[in-house]
Order: sequence, then C-alpha cells, then structure tokens
Amino acid sequence: KEIYDLLIIGGGPIGIACGIAAQAAGLSHIILEKGCLVNSLYHYPVNMTFFSSAEKLEVGGVPFVTLNPKPKRAEALEYYRRVEYKFDLNTHLFEEVTSVVKDEISGFFTIKSSKENYQAKHVVVATGFYDVPVNVCIPGEDLPKVKHYYDDPHYYAKQNVVVIGSSNSSIDAALETYRKGANVTLVIRSHEISPRVKYWVRPDIDNRLSAGEINVYYQSCLSEITEHHVRIQTPEGEITLENDFVLALTGYQPNFSFLEKIGIDVPNEAPRIPEHNSVTMETNIEGLYLAGVVCGGLNTHLWFIENSRIHADMIVSDIVNKLTNP
Ligand code: FAD
Repeated sequence: KEIYDLLIIGGGPIGIACGIAAQAAGLSHIILEKGCLVNSLYHYPVNMTFFSSAEKLEVGGVPFVTLNPKPKRAEALEYYRRVEYKFDLNTHLFEEVTSVVKDEISGFFTIKSSKENYQAKHVVVATGFYDVPVNVCIPGEDLPKVKHYYDDPHYYAKQNVVVIGSSNSSIDAALETYRKGANVTLVIRSHEISPRVKYWVRPDIDNRLSAGEINVYYQSCLSEITEHHVRIQTPEGEITLENDFVLALTGYQPNFSFLEKIGIDVPNEAPRIPEHNSVTMETNIEGLYLAGVVCGGLNTHLWFIENSRIHADMIVSDIVNKLTNP
C-alpha cells in the first residue's frame, strides 16, 4: 500500500493550499475531509459575505474573480471547488480521521479514518475551529430551539428570537432575521457592539438599534432558557422575555480533544495555542504539522485565510529540506 509523503487532515481552504504546495514540490499527498469539500464554508450562513476581499482568499495562485467588493459564501464554494478540480487533488470526502500514531522506528505515521487506514511520512492537521461551539453553559442550552449555527433567516419569520453576542455572526443573524419579520433581541455581554463588526454592516446595525427595530441589552447575559421564555440578567435587574429561538453565536474553538488525542501538546491555560514552531509549523511530534486557523487555539481572530495560506509553503519547504538533507 502506498506510503504518502504528506497526509492532510481537513479539506478547508488551507488543507487545499497544502495539497497544491505538496503537488508543486513533487510530493505525493492525500487530503482526508470529514464532510463535503470546504465543509466549514458550506456550513456558514447561506447569505454570508466574507470580510476579506476575493484576492485574499486565493490559493494556488488561482484568481478569485467576483463582481462584488467582498465575495459571498456561494462564490467561495464555486471558487474552491474549481481550484480542487483544476489541480486534481487527491481529496477523499466524508472520511473523518480518528487517530494518528507515529511508529518511532520507521518514523512513519499510521492514520485511521472512518473508512480506511493509511501510512504517511508527514501529516498536516488543518482542521480549523468550526466544529466545536463555545457554550454559554446555562440551564436550557440543550433545548432544540437553541442554535449554535445559524444558516437561513426565513426559518425565523414571525418568531421571538434572542441573539447572543455582538460579533459578525451575531450581528449578521440579527439583521437578517429582523428583515424576515422576526422580533429580535440582542443580548450582549459588553457595553458595545464588537469593534470587529464589518465596517459596511456597522451603520446598519447602529441605525436598527437606535430606531428600536432591534432590541438590545448591553452588559447582560442569559441565565436560563426554557421552552417558551428566556431569563436575562441586565444591569437593571432580571427580566423574562417570551422566546421561540435562541441563536447562541458565541464563537467556536478547535477540537482540542482531537489534537491532544493525536499527541499534540496543548496548554490548559487560554489561549490554548497548540505547540508548534512558528517557522516550520511542526508540532512537538516530528513530522506532524499544523496549518490554518487551528493554530490560534482559542484565539480564533489570530489566523484567517489571508495570513494562514502561507503555512502550506512553510510546511512543504520544511519537508523538502528534511527529505533532501536527511
Ligand atoms: P476550515 O475551513 O475550518 O477547514 C477545516 C476542515 O477540517 C473542515 O472542512 C472540517 O470539516 C475538517 N475536519 C475537522 N476535523 C476533521 C477530522 N478529524 N477528519 C477530517 N476532516 C476534519 N476568514 C477569512 O480569511 N476571511 C473571512 O472573511 C472569514 N469569514 C469568516 C466567517 C465565519 C462565519 C467564520 C466562522 C469564519 C470566517 N473566517 C474568515 C475564518 C475561517 O474559519 C477561515 O478563514 C477558514 O475557514 C479557515 O480555513 P482552514 O482550512 O484553516 O479551516
């Protein structure tokens, strides 16, 4: 059975960039992706607009052509799929990696997936941070009406919706559901909307809030969710609102248990940045690398496509170095 030079876990934009870089260097590769191609992007809200302009999302030097100043999710899906086909990458979809074990004698890795076992000389973990939501940890969070992923506003028409948080995800969801006729209340821990909100969205949310079209409680948090209500702690005391849905868009985090299970050192203290060399991207295990937004640990604003796509070349040049100077 083939021993791959490089096995890449995750078929997101950065996993794809790693596959392209490996191919360009003449290394054999395989990408294993647990969902569809660019699975995280596929699960973003259907109407989402990227904060990056198109050229900053490009991989493999392929132009990302769009008529809009910032591309939409649907355009990004088209783009990355075309890139995948252009380079004819060896990508296996709907195949989750469950373990990675290094044989200290041969130095090779055995990778177990939901479908097969593989062997590789090097492994890249490019698993992103979109699989594990940050919970608010309050009673009622496990009710089916509480969503950590928001997709389509139509679903929320005529409903009492509470949106937790004030990041881009929360503000986009609040505005979209309001425009489909939901009665929207934002519950924000801080005293203001996040300064990271996309600059062209900011005036829209400011105007909706000052017109009272979207309700807001600052310096507030939910303390309980029941089937028909929510309880909110506000600076003026506790209030109870009628409620049909809670969009708890309080962020996401890398799958730390997976990283630890495959032997990567992850500190317990925030920001829990998984151990890696910032020049080569190699982890505490020789031959096992990290790429993309997973590198930031809990600090999910540190890396994005624009500044992490270079990880692909950094990793592949380290591998080529090792292979040529063993
Ligand atoms: P991902 O795209 O998350 O890819 C990781 C892949 O690994 C996923 O497809 C996942 O299914 C797969 N995977 C995970 N575990 C396994 C496993 N065990 N086995 C197999 N496969 C696995 N960044 C920007 O640069 N610009 C933007 O405008 C922007 N907007 C964003 C908007 C939202 C709503 C969010 C959540 C993020 C945004 N980001 C943006 C950040 C974004 O996460 C990254 O830019 C990009 O998706 C990171 O690419 P990646 O390849 O590192 O990770």
